[in-house]
Amino acid sequence: MDTSNTAIYCPLCGADNHCAVARGGDIGDCWCASTPIDRAALAAVPPAARGTSCLCPACGRGSETAGNQHCGDRNEG
Ligand SMILES: [Zn+2]
Repeated sequence: MDTSNTAIYCPLCGADNHCAVARGGDIGDCWCASTPIDRAALAAVPPAARGTSCLCPACGRGSETAGNQHCGDRNEG
């Protein structure tokens, strides 16, 4: 269990983000290559985490998932 590689964790919920690139794979192997990312979810990523960690599939898909408490408060205005 490698906890030093924070790039493999979702910045919103802390779950495994299943990012292929963070694991040394190719972008074409990543789920994000075939799944549209919800803009609201992207906007909720803390600036410090942008460009360093990918969202997990559940967060990336956005409001389709059951409830929005998965990733805490959403400050959309
Ligand atoms: Zn997540």
